[in-house]
Amino acid sequence: NKQVILRDYVTGFPKESDLVFNDATVDLSVPAGSNKVLVKNLYLSCDPYMRIRMGKPDPSAAALALPYTPGQQIYGYGVSKVVDSGHPDYTKGDLLWGIVGWEEYSVITPTIYSHFKILHTDVPLSYYTGLLGMAGMTAYSGFYEICSPKKGETVFVSAASGAVGQLVGQLAKIMGCYVVGSAGSNEKVDLLKNKFGFDEAFNYKEEKDLDAALKRCFPEGIDIYFENVGGKMLDAVLLNMNLKGRIAVCGMISQYNLEEQEGVRNLATVIYKRVKLQGFVVSDFYDKYSKFLEFVLPYIREGKITYVEDVAEGLEQGPSALIGLFHGKNVGKQLIVVSRE
Ligand code: NDP
Repeated sequence: NKQVILRDYVTGFPKESDLVFNDATVDLSVPAGSNKVLVKNLYLSCDPYMRIRMGKPDPSAAALALPYTPGQQIYGYGVSKVVDSGHPDYTKGDLLWGIVGWEEYSVITPTIYSHFKILHTDVPLSYYTGLLGMAGMTAYSGFYEICSPKKGETVFVSAASGAVGQLVGQLAKIMGCYVVGSAGSNEKVDLLKNKFGFDEAFNYKEEKDLDAALKRCFPEGIDIYFENVGGKMLDAVLLNMNLKGRIAVCGMISQYNLEEQEGVRNLATVIYKRVKLQGFVVSDFYDKYSKFLEFVLPYIREGKITYVEDVAEGLEQGPSALIGLFHGKNVGKQLIVVSRE
């Protein structure tokens, strides 16, 4: 069973050598009544929060994600097929998504909301690593539950072409909002405007003054900011928020590899402008997963919601694909194909 192992805790930007391969002989038995399920992993999801798990134990992050154990395999969201089951709710051939090891086969013990059976297979199966999985639920719950959007409001999304951002932008357009996204290359900016239907987009790496870029795109200010990056972008956004605006703090990828987090200079704006700034974690909303599917599947089938994936072939490509997230190498949702069947 080929596995990806964390060599040691990571400081700074992760390197490919922080992840090593091991061909382990592991116990794959799932006796009846054990509630264990043996799965073959088909697709694995690369997610920014995995960097938090690669670092030394951090008490402030413990409520989100405990660290991986050096010398042991890493794990994350994936799409898998049941090979054998000792669990009454799963049988051979079932498809599911949820947390699995970065390996060819995993033994899992599904509990409520730890894994979800895949019942709709008329859409690409890989979507369950992103659009129809954790990232999609993040966009859906963050936008509707935290941002409280209203038709006609102005919405800004950072890391907008990524797994979460591309859906947030499309949901905001469906809601009838004016939507602007930022991304780190002109190719991504083109996707935002011409594939995902954002009204405006800019390449933040080419803007000398982020405040000026936001003022150009939002002459009347920002009502809603879907925060994915943190750092300088958050500071610039704070200068442009409207009265009673909302900021959904989903992620701060610009901070994950820093040993000390950057300060936020303009935070007092949240008082003056009565801004609601709220962090959230997607797993708190997993009880709404079937409602999400009911909402999103018709849009996908009608071609009204689209999704771009960046597909790496083979578990061997996993480390570079994961690390690429922190350099903006991925165009769309980054996933790994371990096996196509
Ligand atoms: P993406 O698919 O957007 O991939 C990460 C992207 O982040 C990169 O492609 C890059 O895009 C951008 N990026 C990388 N480094 C920086 C940097 N220093 N400054 C600015 N942008 C950077 O990832 P996801 O959509 O999966 O995740 C987006 C955010 O949402 C992350 O912060 C993640 O941690 C968070 N998240 C939070 C969840 C929650 O429950 N709260 C659940 C899931 C995700 P570019 O080229 O545009 O720079």
